[in-house]
Amino acid sequence: MVKQLINDFKKNFKRNSNFTQWPGLIEAYKEWLPISKKTPIITLQEGGTPLIELKSINKIIDKNVKVYAKYDGLNPTGSFKDRGMTMAISKAKEEGCKAVICASTGNTSAAATAYAKKGGMKSFVLIPDGYVAQGKLAQALVYGAEVLAIKGNFDKALKIVQEMSSKFPITLVNSVNPYRLQGQKTAAFEVVDALGEAPDWLCIPMGNAGNITAYWMGFNEYYQHGISKKLPQMMGFQAEGSAPLVLGRTIDNPDTIATAIRIGNPVNKEKANIVKKESNGKFIAISDKDIINTYKLLGEEEGIFCEPASAASVAGLIKLKEEIPKNSTIVCVLTGNGLKDPDCAIQNNEAVFKSGIEPELEIVAKSMGF
Ligand SMILES: *Cc1c(COP(=O)(O)O)cnc(C)c1O
Repeated sequence: MVKQLINDFKKNFKRNSNFTQWPGLIEAYKEWLPISKKTPIITLQEGGTPLIELKSINKIIDKNVKVYAKYDGLNPTGSFKDRGMTMAISKAKEEGCKAVICASTGNTSAAATAYAKKGGMKSFVLIPDGYVAQGKLAQALVYGAEVLAIKGNFDKALKIVQEMSSKFPITLVNSVNPYRLQGQKTAAFEVVDALGEAPDWLCIPMGNAGNITAYWMGFNEYYQHGISKKLPQMMGFQAEGSAPLVLGRTIDNPDTIATAIRIGNPVNKEKANIVKKESNGKFIAISDKDIINTYKLLGEEEGIFCEPASAASVAGLIKLKEEIPKNSTIVCVLTGNGLKDPDCAIQNNEAVFKSGIEPELEIVAKSMGF
């Protein structure tokens, strides 16, 4: 019985299975990536993240669906950005680069710096002053970034780093860097490897829309090689105050509690619109209130502590409840770890928290309702 299970598992697994522990996504999917024997692989063994069934969400939707979370907050620096960064930094190293630069709402700077430093390079990061979650800033500092907080939002920071990288010997690792998307597409491979088929819907938050583009690329490559028999519809979600792809225009002053997707002029907007069209997908905006309610629900019902931006993928699915096909399989991408943004967590929860309690059994018991 167990032997049968293991054999089935091996048969269904398309990735290289010649390793005893997860080796990182470049090693796992090297045939699918633009690397050569010369490429120095800089890895923190990212990828290989779990696909977790969300039973409480199945129940809410109530159409015999199976909803899964692709929990990419379990990557080494706590977000899916590691997938792109292992590729971008390995290629930068191969090309002899000595320093990298990025603009970031936080997670890109954490991932870029961790991988750059591991590869012996410098890392410069431009962040919007005051709009980066504490956990992310803490990471960039501990990994040893050179942080420049600028008076302006992400979009302004991006413009500057693009110019910097064209004028100075420094590699840009924002998602305009094509290797980022190559690394990120492996998340789609993992989803198909785990399910044995592509899902019917893929739900994902969108900021610069690199990730939705990368997933679509990955699903298409597997489909073209006959590894999956279908392609998912791509459902992209933005926050109401920061929804350029939903509204079809640039937003000058984007605003949302989900700082990871607080982006008014997405770098990959043309690509995202192609994904929507080709996949027969849909882009909609979600209120901060719905995002936070889902964020709390995932914590309380599923034991999953994700970022507010990540919760948008599940909040969006719930909002599209009426349109969900019966008996479908749905994957929601949880892009980042909740520990990234402790301020948001402390301000938004339903927990019982009583302070100043005397250390006496009777008083403690009474406070607990006994
Ligand atoms: C970067 C990021 C996003 C947005 O991804 P894009 O590729 O920019 O669309 C969403 N959630 C988290 C946690 C992120 O770090």
